[in-house]
Amino acid sequence: MTSRPRFSVEPWSVRETELDLTALAKTESMFALANGHIGLRANLDEGEPFGLPGSYLNSFYELRPLPHAEAAYGNPESGQTLVNVTNGKIIRLLVDDEPFDLRYGELLSHERELDLRNGVLRRTVEWVSPAGDGVRVRSTRLVSFAQRAAAAILYEVEPLNGPVRVVVQSELVANEPAPARSGDPRAAAALDSPLQSEEHSAYENRVVLVHSTKSSKLRLAVAMDHLVAGPENTEIWTEAAPDVGRVTVAADLAADQCLRVVKFLAYGASSQRSVAAVRDLAVAGLAEALHTGWEGLLRSQREYLDDFWERADVELDGDRELQQAIRFALFHTLQAGARAEQRAVGAKGLTGPGYDGHTFWDTERFVLPVLTYTAAKAAADALRWRHSTLDLARERAAQLGLAGAAFPWRTIRGQECSGYWPAGTAAFHIGADIADAVVRYQDATADTAFEREVGLELLVETARLWRSLGHHDANGRFRIDGVTGPDEYSAIADNNVYTNLMAQRNLRSAAEAVRRHPRHAAALGADLEEAAAWRDAAENMIVPWDDSLGVHPQSEGFTEHQAWDFAGTAPTEYPLLLHYPYFDLYRKQVVKQADLVLALHVRGDAFTDEEKARDFAYYEALTVRDSSLSACTQAVIAAEVGHLDLAYDYFAEAALMDLHDLEHNTVDGVHIASLAGAWIAAVAGFGGMRDHDGKLTFAPRLPPRLERLAFRLTVRGSLLKVEVRGDGATYEILDGPPLELAHYGEVLTVAAGEPLTLELPPARQWPPPTQPPGRAPVHRGKNSREPADPPVALTAS
Ligand code: BGC
Repeated sequence: MTSRPRFSVEPWSVRETELDLTALAKTESMFALANGHIGLRANLDEGEPFGLPGSYLNSFYELRPLPHAEAAYGNPESGQTLVNVTNGKIIRLLVDDEPFDLRYGELLSHERELDLRNGVLRRTVEWVSPAGDGVRVRSTRLVSFAQRAAAAILYEVEPLNGPVRVVVQSELVANEPAPARSGDPRAAAALDSPLQSEEHSAYENRVVLVHSTKSSKLRLAVAMDHLVAGPENTEIWTEAAPDVGRVTVAADLAADQCLRVVKFLAYGASSQRSVAAVRDLAVAGLAEALHTGWEGLLRSQREYLDDFWERADVELDGDRELQQAIRFALFHTLQAGARAEQRAVGAKGLTGPGYDGHTFWDTERFVLPVLTYTAAKAAADALRWRHSTLDLARERAAQLGLAGAAFPWRTIRGQECSGYWPAGTAAFHIGADIADAVVRYQDATADTAFEREVGLELLVETARLWRSLGHHDANGRFRIDGVTGPDEYSAIADNNVYTNLMAQRNLRSAAEAVRRHPRHAAALGADLEEAAAWRDAAENMIVPWDDSLGVHPQSEGFTEHQAWDFAGTAPTEYPLLLHYPYFDLYRKQVVKQADLVLALHVRGDAFTDEEKARDFAYYEALTVRDSSLSACTQAVIAAEVGHLDLAYDYFAEAALMDLHDLEHNTVDGVHIASLAGAWIAAVAGFGGMRDHDGKLTFAPRLPPRLERLAFRLTVRGSLLKVEVRGDGATYEILDGPPLELAHYGEVLTVAAGEPLTLELPPARQWPPPTQPPGRAPVHRGKNSREPADPPVALTAS
């Protein structure tokens, strides 16, 4: 039986004041540290007990066969799985002959704090061994944003009362035993000893281990070094074996003495470099970390985060728990992508092995809108990574008999890793999600070099895919048949509204890009004639409509399907995918996650206000939110059509997805898209921000629960702060040139030093929608419990 961990409510920290061993695997995900390149789960320093050990390097994967029960043309035969790489976090402790192990002896106190401003995980433990010797252990761990190859741990031990003999063993451990494979398709494949040793060396306080993977042939080096300060009698030994490196420190501590060990770690990896070159990469990273020193690493971490929060902070007055949650959400979103530098941003970031470490549309649809406006370089890098996989996407399209590029539904390095067509490659909308992220990034940054080098080609190749996937029917209308939209409970459908509208935007944006860059387009074989065919397809794109119900069917025929028997579905049968056959889900009206409603948000320019309100109400009654990628979108549209309390409940669900473990699988890693979605719910929901066609527009409205919401965005070099209160909104440029925006349709130019405050027009009211029985979000309205002053432990909701 596992329980939900309890945290105190504080604005800039997530603090656990009591260790709950049954919740360890969850807190290892929640407190994981990462910089987009290295990810370290928050395993206890001493290695045991653990929930799920995990240390990851972005894109460091092993291949595994993807067996199919029946062979079929085009099925991928091989999959990629993120590897749990050499664990550099382990620092074991022996206290007077007793291993420091919290399962034994007496735990007097245990506190862990994820500090969102300083970017560190702190831990303080007071423990008495079974033999009666007490110690206080303090550790501070960081994964450096400033030095992407580096991580470091400060580890201090002191006696609680009398003198103690202590032995600290700081280790590198490769091939930790893999956890058993669970039956949940969202969990990871188990890899048994994926690393083979290539070199190990020990020298003074330093150990280096080099390993490679057997099939993917990736190489990895991990180096550690230590600064030790202890009493005079302190002794140090260093040793290395193929899968273990160890620096052992022994000291006799008098009652008032402390042993202080700073462990510096550096990771290096490559698919091409030699053993010597990869080893030297890690050693160089280590030298840089040692040169910066512990204090220097702490300082640069704080500076990096000060800069991020200056550009990204979201302030909420009226709900302290959600204030904490949204900062936690932003912190993890940053951690997932900050220094990925042309590598993928996975659905779990680098916090756990869920979904095998794969990247989906989650990145472009949910994560990049946030990074584009708060950490634009990380967004550009993620798109540059997609661009680097274009050859593979072109090959995949050719294999499928299509033109242009078919990006994989799930992958680590660009190859399709989904062996399941209906909720895999058939979700072609991922191409349009990538194109949309490209256009948003270009509009927000005016980065013309990016547009020429990366954006144009991504737009052209995705447009080509749509043009070849769809066709003009006898009446000249453009159809896209046999695809899967975002809702994975409907598959292989014709004219999915979301897909068609996103493809339409993709085709138009590509045609525009070709017009703007004729010379570069020519190098890609694209010209105005091809662009005219894209425009023609876009102009004639089918958007199905159900006249009798007055709503958009999610895809053709959807509204005629049999309704799902919600009344006959027990609460324990959610998520439905684990309890019902897909064939039954596919042929009935039941929606896993926002699909048509997502179109209402991201293609809001294609719908009237009335259509939005009616469509939203229709799909609310069918949407079960079996995916964490739904609540944030429902929040945005609920807010737009005036259901502000409901929007708030969805916002809370997105933001608390992991802190409350709402999907019961935070053990496998945090839900990065939902966390990024919390920002989307705040900014696009209550801020009413839209960015259609490069125009920045706002229609803010606060839910009753909040007294104030403030957020920041960087647009074309201007740092804009938007502050919303019950009766008005203030737009202020904190830095940079004047910016044009619209407030409820009124176009304004805001300049630095001249904040503008505008009133909010009255909201239009629509009848409240209903959800399937038992699937309404937890209500968090005005009268919900608000914890008293910090720190107060939360009770389960
Ligand atoms: C969702 C997909 C998502 C994937 C990874 C699935 O449950 O339905 O939309 O891409 O999870 O987060």
